[in-house]
Amino acid sequence: GIINFCANNYLGLSSHPEVIRAAVEALEKFGAGLSSVRFICGTQSIHKDLEEKIARFHQREDAILYASCFDANAGIFEALLTPEDAVLSDELNHASIIDGIRLCKANKYRYKHMDMQDLEAKLQEAQKHRLRLVATDGAFSMDGDIAPLREICQLAQKYDALVFIDECHATGFLGPNGRGTDELLGVMDKVTIVNSTLGKALGGAAGGYTTGPKPLIDLLRQRSRPYLFSNSLPPAVVGCASKALDLLMESNAIAQSMAAKTQRFRSKMTAAGFTISGKDHPICPVMLGDARLASVMAEDMLNRGIYVIGFSYPVVPKGKARIRVQISAVHSDEDIDRCVDAFTEVGRKHGALR
Ligand code: PLP
Repeated sequence: GIINFCANNYLGLSSHPEVIRAAVEALEKFGAGLSSVRFICGTQSIHKDLEEKIARFHQREDAILYASCFDANAGIFEALLTPEDAVLSDELNHASIIDGIRLCKANKYRYKHMDMQDLEAKLQEAQKHRLRLVATDGAFSMDGDIAPLREICQLAQKYDALVFIDECHATGFLGPNGRGTDELLGVMDKVTIVNSTLGKALGGAAGGYTTGPKPLIDLLRQRSRPYLFSNSLPPAVVGCASKALDLLMESNAIAQSMAAKTQRFRSKMTAAGFTISGKDHPICPVMLGDARLASVMAEDMLNRGIYVIGFSYPVVPKGKARIRVQISAVHSDEDIDRCVDAFTEVGRKHGALR
């Protein structure tokens, strides 16, 4: 009787019967696991097929799998950048990008969140370095806002920089065919490197990847430490992701199935008197400010059959506590209305409405 509104299961594929069947078939055919890293005996045809499929999905030359996107982010900067290079990172980038950048010896610049003036100033400062890489989340998971990739790519062109995006909260559902933020904003040919996860919209099991130019992927296979020194993805996990991508490439109906639901939730909540951060993204943070209010409201929501979680410091800045609601393609219009009604009741009870 409880509806989950806090999972990253954006497209409902984690419970899709064909995705589950594909996992079972891969498990039966290839076993529980490979008991090896990729380059020893951990590569089966399914791994190569999935890498090829990921590259085709993103319209890139090649792809490399990791145990998680955290690993993909931990492995890329150190392998790609030297002390002669520079990396320019949005201040609100995901923790795994921050950790990946910490591991590399490049010169580090942090620009203000989505602030193009500040990015331009930092790019000018970074002209003295050999190579420049701008790194940003495509969609930011705490606020549901989308990076201004068109402007970022224009600046990258002007200052001869490469662009890297983390698409964990975009792959599968942003853009006309669900390719992500770069498709949504018309810059697929301008973003050089895409990292993303198999653990959210693409079946929700686990796994991550980098996709981009073939020489870069070749380099990662030689140098990227989380790839070289960590176990190969288990067959069942590969099976899920592979089927999820098949479903998304067969038609764009699944990728498009949630936009109207997101819109329904956002507009009804705003009309009810709530402030929802971000824009047009299924991450809908209900902004409350006070940490205790967010926590007691989430508890009251659960009592009304709606599973949501309050986020407060240190996950989000002090004074910006919120309940992060995530819309999924599996929510019916009635589910969404039930969620809005529960929020309205609970919000009224706690004096949280505008
Ligand atoms: N990048 C972003 C933006 C994320 O939200 C997450 C997951 O929370 C990750 C990377 C890590 O992904 P994974 O769970 O595949 O390690």
